[in-house]
Amino acid sequence: MGCAEVISFDEVRARKHRTTLRQQLHERFDRWLDQLESELPEDEPTLSQVSEAIWTLRQQLTGGVAETIVQHTHQEVQSRPHMPCPTCARLLTARGPVSRRVETMVGAVELARPYFYCQVCREGTYPLDAALRLSAGRIQLDVQQAVADVVTELPYDTAATMLDHLSGIAVSSERMHTLTHQVAEGLTVLDVAPSREAIAQRVAAVAAGRFRRPVLVLGIDGAYVPTRPESARGRRPGQARQRARRARWRGEWHEVKGLRLYLLDGDRIVHVLSWHQVQNEAQLGEALKQIKEAGLIPEGSVRLCIVSDGAEWIWKHVQALFPHAWQVLDYYHCAEYLHKMAKAHYGVSLQAQEWVEATLTRLYMGKVGAVLAGLQRMRPTSEEAAKAIANCWAYLHEHRGRTHYRKLRRGGYPLGSGGIESSNKLICHVRLKRSGAWWYEGNSNHMLALRCAKYNGTLDQVFTRYQQKHQGA
Ligand SMILES: [Zn+2]
Repeated sequence: MGCAEVISFDEVRARKHRTTLRQQLHERFDRWLDQLESELPEDEPTLSQVSEAIWTLRQQLTGGVAETIVQHTHQEVQSRPHMPCPTCARLLTARGPVSRRVETMVGAVELARPYFYCQVCREGTYPLDAALRLSAGRIQLDVQQAVADVVTELPYDTAATMLDHLSGIAVSSERMHTLTHQVAEGLTVLDVAPSREAIAQRVAAVAAGRFRRPVLVLGIDGAYVPTRPESARGRRPGQARQRARRARWRGEWHEVKGLRLYLLDGDRIVHVLSWHQVQNEAQLGEALKQIKEAGLIPEGSVRLCIVSDGAEWIWKHVQALFPHAWQVLDYYHCAEYLHKMAKAHYGVSLQAQEWVEATLTRLYMGKVGAVLAGLQRMRPTSEEAAKAIANCWAYLHEHRGRTHYRKLRRGGYPLGSGGIESSNKLICHVRLKRSGAWWYEGNSNHMLALRCAKYNGTLDQVFTRYQQKHQGA
């Protein structure tokens, strides 16, 4: 019985609390309306005039609402006279209040909060900042996320202008740059990969109602991006134009090695995971190993298939990590190889074309042995042709187990690496290959990691990690 009374007392208090908050919000709104009224044209404004007046003032309203709610819901922390030192537990007395202005997507929020300083530990603390989980610096998490969203699509200058136009939030391109690198610092493939559970769900969705396990494709490939040597550093940011004119350094094209996991659902590709970095073979191999060891590939519930071109390093890693997966030599890459050989041997001729078509048909029928024997019987027309034939033989011999295209096709496996090529285009080229843009390797890897996170649907997860790492005033 006493219990019921306590609850009802709490209820009354909560109701009163809410009423006070409402009143305060209404008062704010009234003050805002006064201002709006003074901004509107005298009579019969057009819709765009109304819209513009509200647009200009909206952050004051929404920021103000946020401010009032914060003040109201954190009254205790804000008016706290004492607190124990978090380190030595000595009782500290409030100093201040110290004001701080932070930027959110709904506008600026002014905070006046007590400060506690322990002279023994020489440490200060703002309990309100901790309670609100404020990010260090002026720009708060939601703005940071919006920044990441735009800079992963647009050059920094354009991104800054665009964000300002569309949200009214001014963040300089330099600040955007810094923020991007802070967020992306140290990201690994596992940080940007969807969870095991999320991947399992995607697999289950594709498997539903099907007799055979779905095909999960692992595509591995390289792409080139323009990079700038470390020696180009040392000048202030924002002087890109002068820097380019001086040209004290030469840009180089570096290889982005990437991998993509995707499911085949009829003609549709269901994206699972992309990871692209300017990296060496060993690093890509390490990323693959991490993916495997984290159990991200549900090998028991999919038919794993690996598609790639002839690069030896790729198959070395694949063989070691996924010895039971289907391996496919990219059909189009293979065809290109045959064309080159035919040109060396027959010249640009109908004969060359006929030979390529016949050879591809044989491969398609699973007769790689016959193709290899045929190559051995060929009588080279020149030294160059002899070399090309020998290379072609070695190439097909090396990949003989990966060319059973008919069998692969019947099993529903892909013949080409189109899936990884489009990932290269979408993740690497779209943002990194812009005219005049040369990237420091570290910066390009940060950008790539964020773009991978975006397409993997894990940008939120990346921000949670970042927030956990960088909390505090
Ligand atoms: Zn202390």
